Amino acid sequence: MPLSTPALLVHSAGQAFERGTVDRRDVGPSDVLIDIAFAGICHSDIHQAREEWGRAIFPMVPGHEIAGIVREVGSGVTKYAVGDRVGIGCFVDSCRECENCLAGEEQFCLRGNVATYNGRAYDGTDTYGGYSTQIVADENYVLRIPDGIPLDAAAPLLCAGITTYSPLRHWGAGPGKRVAVIGMGGLGHMGVQIAHAMGAHVTVLSRTLAKEAEGRALGADEYHATEDPATFKSLRNRFDLIINTVSADIPVDRYLSTLRLDGALVFVGLPENPQTFRVFSLTGARRAIAGSNIGGIRETQEMLDFCAEHGIASVIETIGADDVTDAYDRVVRGDVRYRFVIDTATIPGA
Ligand code: NAP
Ligand code: ZN
Ligand code: ZN
Repeated sequence: MPLSTPALLVHSAGQAFERGTVDRRDVGPSDVLIDIAFAGICHSDIHQAREEWGRAIFPMVPGHEIAGIVREVGSGVTKYAVGDRVGIGCFVDSCRECENCLAGEEQFCLRGNVATYNGRAYDGTDTYGGYSTQIVADENYVLRIPDGIPLDAAAPLLCAGITTYSPLRHWGAGPGKRVAVIGMGGLGHMGVQIAHAMGAHVTVLSRTLAKEAEGRALGADEYHATEDPATFKSLRNRFDLIINTVSADIPVDRYLSTLRLDGALVFVGLPENPQTFRVFSLTGARRAIAGSNIGGIRETQEMLDFCAEHGIASVIETIGADDVTDAYDRVVRGDVRYRFVIDTATIPGA
């Protein structure tokens, strides 16, 4: 008998969440069964539950920022023991043999990795994510949450943390580098903390100055309002690296003008529309536009350990199951400081 676990389901695009159950597979030899304690709400959950990225699989149980405790381990499990504090991010399997998997970049698996939800496992079964009380996953796709980070504030690291850490590392954020983060949201507030801890000079580019005090408290050296037309003029040729976390269209050429020679504008935000730019904006200073997607398992563990070492975690608002539908609207309105985290104890039905 498969395990039936309480979950929050959305039955078609844009509908309200309803309580229900999903089946989890039997615990196989290399699997762990995790009691989920908290699940973060990522803007990607909203894009998918509203079908903003194209066709999705319904019913859907979103959630790829999962933190919990190991309840049971399979006979061959070596990395984890019952009682361990663990997390799961955006994928739960990959082919393990393509060049990207072998390089530890499973997020770019050439066969296509198995998304934690709104995906299909290689055996064809649908996957269900973290808005639920339990999940079964292969130990090789499970992360260890260091003792120093509370589980609730750790959950968002599994996506928002790694999605900003990976490009900051890849493009060499550190002492002497000027890094800008566009958007002070779930990803952005992690990017600010991580870039600061790496030793970079950090600038937040937010629509308004409403969150300036918090941005500076998290490590921003500068904070500018992009609604102010003077901002872009004053920032010309300034940054080595810009991480764009915005979920909507941005004026790409304006941001490119703020990059210095050899600077890079890296997209992690995933708007539904194509973005356009003038080629001259690149050639004028050998600038680059790039994109980045979460991170591999090894790097995600490195990020968690880095955050523990530097006392970094997500700034969260904890909510219950009844608040999730409304929380989606609030994230879209920018009304969250800075990540909603669902207390999964509230999910089992009354
Ligand atoms: P979020 O919490 O909603 O933050 C996005 C921020 O962008 C907002 O806080 C806001 O910052 C700014 N923003 C929102 N709407 C805007 C608009 N119309 N114009 C300009 N700025 C706007 O979302 P998130 O969870 O951080 O996710 C951000 C994006 O990254 C989403 O598209 C998500 O799907 C994507 N994502 C990508 C990856 C990846 O691996 N590449 C991983 C996770 C998420 P201000 O108020 O400061 O302006
Ligand atoms: Zn995410
Ligand atoms: Zn692969």
